[in-house]
Amino acid sequence: MNVTFLGGAGEYGRSCFLLNVKETSILIDCGVVKGETDPSRRFPQLERVDKHRLAAVFLTHSHEDHTGALERLADLGWSGPVYATGPSFEQTEKIPAAMEKRPLAAGEIKRWQEAGEVKFSFGRSGHTEGACWYLFHHEGETIYFSGDYTLHSSLYPFDFPPEGAVDFAVMDGAGGAEKRSRKETEEAFLTRMKNVTEKGAVHGPLAGKTQELLLLLAEEGLNPAVDPAVYDYTLESLEKRRSWYKNDGAEKLQMWMKRKAAASVSEWLREEKQVGIYEERTLAEAMPFDAAIFTTGPKLPVFEKTSYEKVPFFVHPTLPETKQLLQLIKPKRTVFTHTSVPEVFQDLKETEVISVKTGDTVDMQRIIK
Ligand SMILES: [Zn+2]
Repeated sequence: MNVTFLGGAGEYGRSCFLLNVKETSILIDCGVVKGETDPSRRFPQLERVDKHRLAAVFLTHSHEDHTGALERLADLGWSGPVYATGPSFEQTEKIPAAMEKRPLAAGEIKRWQEAGEVKFSFGRSGHTEGACWYLFHHEGETIYFSGDYTLHSSLYPFDFPPEGAVDFAVMDGAGGAEKRSRKETEEAFLTRMKNVTEKGAVHGPLAGKTQELLLLLAEEGLNPAVDPAVYDYTLESLEKRRSWYKNDGAEKLQMWMKRKAAASVSEWLREEKQVGIYEERTLAEAMPFDAAIFTTGPKLPVFEKTSYEKVPFFVHPTLPETKQLLQLIKPKRTVFTHTSVPEVFQDLKETEVISVKTGDTVDMQRIIK
């Protein structure tokens, strides 16, 4: 097997990896660079996909930087099965009609299944509700795609893959060389939120980090205003898809949310509450208005004209988490993706790190240009 990095290597966003098996190939994620308007940088290199060879698409999770280019793939004339967990399909609005959804259930976690030429298994990756990693196996070779992950979510479980199972790993490097513990970043975030003097809106995705931030702020007694879209999604998801959550965190979040009501941006601006949590597009649609905007991840161009501040909160692995997972799965070779600074991983003792740019192909042994 070999992998062509159609996006996401040496850069943040547009995750898209083409796994070439023998007769067929498989696409893992099909995302865009969020906020990028130049098509050559926004979309992955899908023109390199041979649509007759492509047997299936596997999605690690719903976020736009992993799914936003599916329609473009359909426009290129590809139709076929798309594998993702049930919650990932719930969160992904635009699965093109020509593609056939193959939802993966919580009961199938860590069981080997067949998909054409390959066997695969998946497990929950802690990044958001339904986010997962994949293992693919073909003729004695095993490859691991971590998807976005964290081992320390308060809401989402991480299923550890089998020990020492991996020849080649494609890992989430978005946490970079961050060494602070989860607790330390949580405290830094809470301190900043407590010091919001006027009004501050934190933006996040519909599902994932947003719920973690809500739980954190709620437990601290900060009582944030909640986006109606996030509110409805969260309560329904906690009710119907509990097997994708950690029980303790889910229980607390559900109890807190049931006691409160959602607030649109304009309602929140009239209220006493300092901090509001809103989905990116809700905030973008309500602009311009008079409040500071906060992000816990990369800054989005749409908010650059306002008072805009980054307060890091990780739903990606820190360096100690990266090492912990590598020590378990023991990949011979590893590529770090989803980061513009992959060189921070160069000296890891746990594996041989291969430095790759978007457009490169890597087989289990070496880089083939
Ligand atoms: Zn993500």
